[in-house]
Amino acid sequence: MSADVAQNQQETAPPELFVLRDEQGPILYAPLASLIARANESAVAAALAYAKDPGSIEGMTDDERAVVQTLGERGFFTHRAYPRHEVGFRPAQVTLFPTNNCNLRCSYCYAFGGEGGGNGEPLRRMDLRVAQRAIDLIARNAKERATEGENIRNFLVSIHGNGEPFCAFDLIQKIVWYGQDVAEELEIPAVFNAATNGVLSEEQLDFVIANFHSVNISFDGLPAFQNANRPMAGGRGSFDQVDHTMRRLVEAGVDFGIRTTVTAAMVDSMPEIVAFVADNYPGIEQLHFEPVWECGRCLTSSDTMPSAEAFTRRYLESLEVARERGVRLVFSGARQDMLVDTFCKVSSGSFTVTPTGDVTACYEVSYASDPRSKRFFFGHFDHELDDFVFDQKVLDELSRLNVHNMRFCDDCFCRWHCAGDCAAKVLDGIGVDEHHGSMRCEISRALTLNQIQRKLDWRPTDGR
Ligand code: SF4
Ligand code: SF4
Ligand code: SF4
Repeated sequence: MSADVAQNQQETAPPELFVLRDEQGPILYAPLASLIARANESAVAAALAYAKDPGSIEGMTDDERAVVQTLGERGFFTHRAYPRHEVGFRPAQVTLFPTNNCNLRCSYCYAFGGEGGGNGEPLRRMDLRVAQRAIDLIARNAKERATEGENIRNFLVSIHGNGEPFCAFDLIQKIVWYGQDVAEELEIPAVFNAATNGVLSEEQLDFVIANFHSVNISFDGLPAFQNANRPMAGGRGSFDQVDHTMRRLVEAGVDFGIRTTVTAAMVDSMPEIVAFVADNYPGIEQLHFEPVWECGRCLTSSDTMPSAEAFTRRYLESLEVARERGVRLVFSGARQDMLVDTFCKVSSGSFTVTPTGDVTACYEVSYASDPRSKRFFFGHFDHELDDFVFDQKVLDELSRLNVHNMRFCDDCFCRWHCAGDCAAKVLDGIGVDEHHGSMRCEISRALTLNQIQRKLDWRPTDGR
């Protein structure tokens, strides 16, 4: 652990209490303590007064004192450590974008997959040497950090893309074989994950099943949506191929999740999508719904974002279907069980290498011609040095993209869960102190409140 992390973890926060309300009345919520309680209005007022000024107990009635004492015994007023992201860039995982080419032309693709990012950039493949040196770096770090006593058991290579990574299948094979050799040499396991559109050949599927630990498939949930939104480059629908891929993964017992991008045209079908997925791909790890964000090819297609209200309502209905069918449903901004100060790993310099050998902290910012690259690109592969070079100044600035610096989030009960949301979306062209939220805030808050309500309503099922 670096000195900075140790330092940060010593900081403690004064009791942070939020009052949420639903049809049953007020809910006291202490996120840092992970404590929730239903209370009446006078109990809430006493708790807030005491949290602000412990001396206020002197002027309280016996009942109010009793409430404060009970809440205090449960830990509502205990100082807690602030969540802090890891500082000091020493990655034990890398995300590789083997190519920006793509066999699909999704109508909302943020990266203009197969079309060079929409900026006339050429279609590229990563040099194998770039991938190899990235693996050398993370494997060495993983081994050293494990030796120093950190809880690191492997190094992780994620295959992703600003295109479809399996369009460079021969390169992926070489990357995996190289990673396996390094793992053997350093005696530390390699773990491989992949995100794919699921249009894979039998040979590619055999390779995925044999070598990848988990797979994420982008799939729009129902055949008609998949064929309309995620067509092949030639215009034909892609459902049959993706369906075949997912059935093979189910059959082989591979851990895989589905990511469904929800447009306004799809939003009312969310519950139906859950049922379809549960019926056809039993045992999937999770189904991830995300409203489309209007960027990339979405700006030139007819796809639009669903309203926050419609997305939330249909998501809550979908949760019921998911619960009945045993499917784990996810939306990225609602994660009440996590205490974090950053939405993703962007602030710790997530090590993501583009086909050109540039290093970006953000999956969605992968071209030097993207104005946001100034914020997110923090290194590149230097062919002469045969190694990566990193820009510490950019890494320091990235480290500031956390919820401690987002005043807009100060009063939000989700701030240690959502942690300011996706920086690429909410900080497009603005400083971290200018963060002013988005329509996603409404969704994150409503769905996080629902998670809290579910915890309050939880009862043991063994009759106690
Ligand atoms: S599969 Fe992915 S990269 Fe390709 S067009 Fe669709 S969203 Fe873009
Ligand atoms: S900033 Fe947003 S788009 Fe970029 S990696 Fe994080 S979550 Fe993904
Ligand atoms: S204000 Fe919005 S972005 Fe900030 S933590 Fe809350 S829900 Fe997330």
